[in-house]
Amino acid sequence: MKKVLVIIFVCLSFFSVAQEKKFKVILDAGHGGKDPGAAKNGCIEKHIALDVVLKIGKILESYPDFNVKYTRSTDVFIPLRDRAKIANDFEADLFVSVHCNSSVSPKPYGAMTLVMGLSRAGMNFEIAKAENAVISLEDNFKEKYEGFDPNNPNTQIGLRIMQEETLMQSINFASTVQSYFKNSLQRKDLGMHQQPLWVLDATVMPGVLIELGFLSNLEESKYMKSEEGKSNYSQIIARSIIEYKNNVRGTNTPPNVLQIKEPVIVEELPVMETVVDTSKVVDAAPEPLTPAELAYKVQISFSTKKLDLTPENFNGLANVTMIEVSGGYKYFYGLGTLEACKKFLAEAKQKGFASAFIVTPN
Ligand SMILES: [Zn+2]
Repeated sequence: MKKVLVIIFVCLSFFSVAQEKKFKVILDAGHGGKDPGAAKNGCIEKHIALDVVLKIGKILESYPDFNVKYTRSTDVFIPLRDRAKIANDFEADLFVSVHCNSSVSPKPYGAMTLVMGLSRAGMNFEIAKAENAVISLEDNFKEKYEGFDPNNPNTQIGLRIMQEETLMQSINFASTVQSYFKNSLQRKDLGMHQQPLWVLDATVMPGVLIELGFLSNLEESKYMKSEEGKSNYSQIIARSIIEYKNNVRGTNTPPNVLQIKEPVIVEELPVMETVVDTSKVVDAAPEPLTPAELAYKVQISFSTKKLDLTPENFNGLANVTMIEVSGGYKYFYGLGTLEACKKFLAEAKQKGFASAFIVTPN
């Protein structure tokens, strides 16, 4: 009898180990219920986001090595805080939020991805601390949480390092998605952006918010509403998730074969100033920089007004650059390595731009 119990126990242990090794993905359909999100050209964001998310989930669920959870699988309202909590409680390996963009102008179109802004690392850290405070009550928490001990002051440093890694992994995943948007779907590539977003900041795992396209653009809204459009989006996002997992886990899960169906090619519109294009930096630094050096800059403000880039308009900061985005203008100070930008950021804050933050351009 004892022997039988031991065998059952061993089998159960193996089973739970196998379960734990599954790659956990949280799929978050933006908005829902009383919050429709954007509504333009007969399309409602919450419905498109949910359809795409369910299709992504269906692809991933066909693999035994994925464990998929949805923040919502029906048309219900879920507060942001709850979305983050669902992801954190699930101990997800990756958080993927799907949204549709919209602009007051019908012209902008294209896909973009958003990752947590560096400036909010502190906020994420506080939430991470609060969420993790209970784990010391769990068995084997030291192995489970890679040395995280809420009672040890040195742990705080460890957690900060984990966060930079989390951000780099988010950037890694976002750039895969972005390259599929461009190369497999021929969508206009609006690049990856760092932006303070509560749902990303409050989740403790790598996370990316995907803006599929602009519902305010008639052509793009047709694509997003179409069955083939939604299927195409879900295929490339699922594939990006599988590739990301293989990357971070060192596994060889075969990516889903893409079956991109008759993509409705969005007509190339004449390049208008209102089209979001982060690569277009007005008044760039005088010396040519290598692409690696161009990786970072400091966003000091956003305004609906176009300002002259003179130091008087920016509390004395010189060489401010600007890009036009839908709805206004983004102003930047400095351009260079992350190290250099940390100095620019300190300088900008000292000059009164308290909410300045470091961004990574394309
Ligand atoms: Zn949205």
